[in-house]
Amino acid sequence: MLNLIIFGAPGSGKGTQSEKLIDNYGLYHISTGEVLRDHIARGTDLGKIADTYISEGLLIPDDLMISILDDLLDKNSHLTQNGVIFDGFPRTVPQADALTKLLEKRNMKIDAVVGLEVDENELVDRILKRGKETNRADDNLETIKKRLEVYHNQTTPLREYYLGQGIYHPVKGSGSVEDIFTDIKSRLDNLK
Ligand code: AMP
Repeated sequence: MLNLIIFGAPGSGKGTQSEKLIDNYGLYHISTGEVLRDHIARGTDLGKIADTYISEGLLIPDDLMISILDDLLDKNSHLTQNGVIFDGFPRTVPQADALTKLLEKRNMKIDAVVGLEVDENELVDRILKRGKETNRADDNLETIKKRLEVYHNQTTPLREYYLGQGIYHPVKGSGSVEDIFTDIKSRLDNLK
């Protein structure tokens, strides 16, 4: 079993590299952003709440996000035998603490955090490009700036958090998708 967190700023390539990791290691993908966008598209109560935060570039409150994750792990326990790739979660220290506990009670743990490190100007260009291609409502310049600010204030402390646990693997997130993946794979294949 291999449980990973794919970590990085909005636009750092988490979704793209997740797809390759899923194919290569047979992991179950949990993207909290995708789960929330699905609720918004279906017009559920949760979707209505999530939309008010997402459209402003803000994070959904920790308690709500943690209970969504707990529920996802319960409902999909039959799909997680090979391991899980967490994409977009955790985004705050309380979420990271909660994730450790949620996994512990299922006899699971995070084996590695893959941190995609990309220069800020490149991030903005990439997200604007994605906005044009996918019509994602939060991929506009104003919301992107807010999302990057939120990332710096609330999410970057997790880098130190996981470095302290000795499981953070920084990877240069610019260059070709294949080269980045080769770098990630060599680190994962060298885990004890
Ligand atoms: P993403 O697709 O991961 O970029 O997420 C899109 C948006 O969903 C974020 O900007 C947040 O508003 C919300 N979101 C996704 N995951 C989380 C999370 N773990 N905690 C709080 N908000 C989240």
